[in-house]
Amino acid sequence: MKPDILISACLLGQPVRYDGKSNDQKVAAYQAQIHQWQQQGRIIPVCPEMLGGLPTPRPAAEIVQGQVITHDGQNVTDEFQSGAQKTLQLAQQHNAIAALLAARSPSCGSDGIYNGEFNGTLIEGLGVTAQLLEDHNIRCFSPDNFQALLDYLAKT
Ligand code: SF4
Repeated sequence: MKPDILISACLLGQPVRYDGKSNDQKVAAYQAQIHQWQQQGRIIPVCPEMLGGLPTPRPAAEIVQGQVITHDGQNVTDEFQSGAQKTLQLAQQHNAIAALLAARSPSCGSDGIYNGEFNGTLIEGLGVTAQLLEDHNIRCFSPDNFQALLDYLAKT
């Protein structure tokens, strides 16, 4: 049986981003593959921030010295960590081995995150959920690395 794949709900068109929008245009070029996975029942949609109890829309947040802080100064680290734990549980329940996660998010980012100063500057690092998944051997890929995800799945 082929493994399940965790996918950020916003990449699947769900309007769960902090600004109430979705991110599905980021995977427009890969719709045929994603549709095939959906038909095979292999996709687990997740929004870690909503799983952590945050509403939509919500203030933008960035990681500042290990804490997740919103643009208006609220500390939402607990919610982000709770959402990450619930996402990991889902992944483990489904034996998922890989995740396709929206880029640059403080939860889902897997190839860079913003620097915590809300000035649009990217730095190396992982979002809270991406870090927890990687720590448990669930490989995380952004839409920019879709081919790497396919290559990884082909090897497993
Ligand atoms: Fe998308 Fe992840 Fe942000 Fe939810 S937490 S809106 S799934 S990037």
